[in-house]
Amino acid sequence: MSQGHVSPPLCLGDAFGRSIQYLRLSVTDRCNLRCSYCQSNAVHEFIPHEHILHYEEILRFVNIVYHLGIEKVRLTGGEPFVRKGCAEFLWMLRQKFPSLDIRITSNGTLLAEHVTLLKRIRVGAVNLSLDSFDAETFATITGRKLLPQVLASLEKLLAEGVVVKINAVALRGITEREIDNFLSFANTYGVDVRFIEFMPMGRDTLWNASRFCPVSDLLALIEERVRLQPCPSDERSDGPARMFSMAGRKGRIGVISPLSNHFCHTCNRLRLTSEGALRLCLFDDHEYPLRPMLCDPTVRDEDIAAYLRKLCQTKPLGYDLLRAKKGTAVARSVMSGIGG
Ligand code: SAM
Repeated sequence: MSQGHVSPPLCLGDAFGRSIQYLRLSVTDRCNLRCSYCQSNAVHEFIPHEHILHYEEILRFVNIVYHLGIEKVRLTGGEPFVRKGCAEFLWMLRQKFPSLDIRITSNGTLLAEHVTLLKRIRVGAVNLSLDSFDAETFATITGRKLLPQVLASLEKLLAEGVVVKINAVALRGITEREIDNFLSFANTYGVDVRFIEFMPMGRDTLWNASRFCPVSDLLALIEERVRLQPCPSDERSDGPARMFSMAGRKGRIGVISPLSNHFCHTCNRLRLTSEGALRLCLFDDHEYPLRPMLCDPTVRDEDIAAYLRKLCQTKPLGYDLLRAKKGTAVARSVMSGIGG
């Protein structure tokens, strides 16, 4: 497939008229944190290294979907920078796809040494997962005392002018206590801070109603402090987040409420797991293993593309699946196995 020639009918679309332009690429299921909301009681075994997609296979996949109209690729995991060679992979990705919108979701613990590279490859934004600015609370949530490392990365990213967005999982009794820290951070650095509702992910999830904090509660708390003004929705840069500006302050506040406010009708994403399985919807446990095709040079890119187009036609509406899963986990795997 040569680059740059995508005739519109060949672009990825689904049976609901959604066009698919965004790929979440999990490069590893391993992570150096043990966030309580990303764990479950089930025994979790990491994917053996030999089953993980090689970087060359990932590049092959990206090349195919790039020609099917994918414009934005987000590296996620696990923690992307836990995987050896991640920085070199990012560099290759940029060399091969000069106009691709490359983004990263990271816990920030290992980022500091890669900030110069991120700037050089013109990363669109780094979404940094940070649930607390308090060292003790951070350690309680993540199981690791690594807040100083995260803050060092954050400082470097901001100093280099890399766009940063903070993602925090809304946790009852924790996030409310830290609201002022988040607001002040958003205002000081003019960044977006987004709160994500805690989802019951994985078999034997540790989710329970007493730990769940609806984002509407956080919005109410914030509005006691500052007037919020809804921002026009910008699917490309904000995804499913509902964004608000703060009167007289810099930065914005966003909320992502997958359980209480569905955004499936605008979903434009595909997920590729670190084993090379295609996932059409966060809430759909059906995964389509692509590795056998991707690692086989006798399979033509055109045939993989045709298969992808066919699969995309079956992309479901997540809220239908959620309704059916009421009372159980919304996905069989924890988030680190899917990539968020
Ligand atoms: N390690 C990277 C990070 O920390 O951003 C990328 C992977 S992590 C699984 C992606 C995102 O999923 C993080 O923002 C994390 O907070 C979120 N997440 C994990 N489990 C979640 C859950 N049960 N509910 C809501 N968000 C969750």
